[in-house]
Amino acid sequence: MLDAMHARRFSIEDSSAGQLDSKVLARVFFAGKRETRLIMHRTSSSKKQPKRVVIVGAGPGGLATAMLLTRSGVHVTVVEKQARVGGRTATLEQDGFKFDIGPTFFLYPRVLREIFADAGYDLDREVPMKRLDPQYRLVFGDGGQIDATADIERMERQIAAISPPDAVEFKNFLTHNQKKLESFMPVLETPFEKWSDLLRPEMLKLLPLMKPWLSLDGDLRTHFKDERIRLGFSFQSKYLGMSPFRCPSLFSILSFLEYEHGVFHPIGGCGAVTAAMARIAREMGVEFLTEEPVEEVLIDEGAGPGRRGKAVGVRTSKRRLQADAVVVNADFAEAMRKLVANKHRRKWSDRAIAGKRYSCSTFMMYLGIDGRYDDVAHHTIYLAENYRQNLRDIEELHRLSENPSFYVQNASVTDPTLAPKGQSTLYVLLPVTHQSEHVDWPRETARFRELAIQQMKRIGIHDLERRIRSEKILTPRGWQDDFGLFKGATFSMKHSLDQMLHLRPHNRFEDVEGMYLTGGGTHPGSGLPVIFQSARISSKLLLEDLNVAPHWGVSSKLAMNDTMMQVAS
Ligand SMILES: Cc1cc2nc3c(=O)[nH]c(=O)nc-3n(C[C@H](O)[C@H](O)[C@H](O)COP(=O)(O)OP(=O)(O)OC[C@H]3O[C@@H](n4cnc5c(N)ncnc54)[C@H](O)[C@@H]3O)c2cc1C
Repeated sequence: MLDAMHARRFSIEDSSAGQLDSKVLARVFFAGKRETRLIMHRTSSSKKQPKRVVIVGAGPGGLATAMLLTRSGVHVTVVEKQARVGGRTATLEQDGFKFDIGPTFFLYPRVLREIFADAGYDLDREVPMKRLDPQYRLVFGDGGQIDATADIERMERQIAAISPPDAVEFKNFLTHNQKKLESFMPVLETPFEKWSDLLRPEMLKLLPLMKPWLSLDGDLRTHFKDERIRLGFSFQSKYLGMSPFRCPSLFSILSFLEYEHGVFHPIGGCGAVTAAMARIAREMGVEFLTEEPVEEVLIDEGAGPGRRGKAVGVRTSKRRLQADAVVVNADFAEAMRKLVANKHRRKWSDRAIAGKRYSCSTFMMYLGIDGRYDDVAHHTIYLAENYRQNLRDIEELHRLSENPSFYVQNASVTDPTLAPKGQSTLYVLLPVTHQSEHVDWPRETARFRELAIQQMKRIGIHDLERRIRSEKILTPRGWQDDFGLFKGATFSMKHSLDQMLHLRPHNRFEDVEGMYLTGGGTHPGSGLPVIFQSARISSKLLLEDLNVAPHWGVSSKLAMNDTMMQVAS
């Protein structure tokens, strides 16, 4: 009875905004109480046919976009070429072990938390997460290690053990970057479509903090003298697939984000997040077509010279789907080359795409292990003594290093759900060059695997070969062939200043009307929090173009209404 009352009340509240074009399943939070599911039916003000959108790809960007558009009453079909959803953020299940394929650091959950809340769900309830402390261990080839923590005193003591004068700078670094992040936030939340967007007041305010003339390492020099300490606050540029010596100084906010907002481990891994998103999207009414690659985006020729074509649907291996708009979540460079005829792309022609610079790739080992390495941290980053040479090999010489840096996730020390009892998982990542003629992976794989196993002794992983019970290796070639990433570049286009903001492929795709991009290949960039932000930006632009009002931010409004109802009763 109470639910019926709420349902009536909320369907009136919702429809009064005139935004619901279709049946929407939602869940609403009632101030501190258990949530209640509501089905809000179409109302008399919105009897027109819902708009139809096709999303190409069920990666995190595609899934978040599906949730947001459906919430606004759009009929969404997600078409995914793989049997599983989640893209690079999916779970690999093998011999009873579960591995994240790509992301293992879940940072800044706030954006996704808001998207879940707007859809009527509670992220923390759907995907329990653990904040890690220490957030990760840094092992320096040049000597010393740090268990990175947001506890300022503990952190200062560890920095002092390596470089005494640098310890006092930790707090200054945090304060400085807090300001930087605050100033940068509006930039992450809005589209960049033309160069004049750079002149917006929030950009001008950001300029002195952004220091475009400095690299990330250059910026960190103003705080830390010891190169190892600087690396501890700059290796995060690898999330963008870039060297800290070339990455724009702006990105010191990445390590700040970790200290200020935490590094989280979703129980079950980051793949559990995309699995929950897909489940919720289905509950909301999103239609999923899996194992069905999109082969072409259908484009109506523009009328007359100089006119852009308009996306009107997609052709898959099995059917044609008509749509009012198409969202591309698949890797930008690969999708454009394969799905959109070159004649429709004036700015992003095959030639222009080939001329861009792409991120590094990764050599991956997913290992199911007998027993557990209890002394190895959940996340360990090993920074080789010849770190600079390793980066040159990756970015300039496009060859394999003899003493590579690497990262190991030993998540079973935190999460017992990933492996059978008495066993554990190891996820091993070595940054390497994207596909290049200098590296013949079928020939190199066995040798490089052996090198990786030897390297792991440097962080206390001994006797590994004997304990491997399950194994999968993924090389840049696999990223290219199996995951459809252009050049196997795992982090999309580089985030250099000349490939950022309005110079990155736009959320509202420039070359084709009715086509939008979401995910790591568009603004703001790769990395889960900004990918979710790209979903919000692109969804908003799409809805604006279809003349549908975005129906977000209602969960707080509804909660408030409910409180008022309680007070009234
Ligand atoms: C090894 C690795 C480690 C990473 N670590 C982190 C991390 O720790 N933290 C973090 O925040 N980020 C990390 N990232 C970066 C980023 O968060 C992920 O790559 C993320 O999954 C990218 O999301 P996306 O939305 O761009 O799409 P993707 O995950 O790339 O998904 C795109 C989807 O499109 C599908 N598709 C492609 N072509 C077609 C077609 N023709 N038809 C239909 N479907 C198609 C694909 O199958 C895929 O499912 C990591 C990435 C990698 C690769």
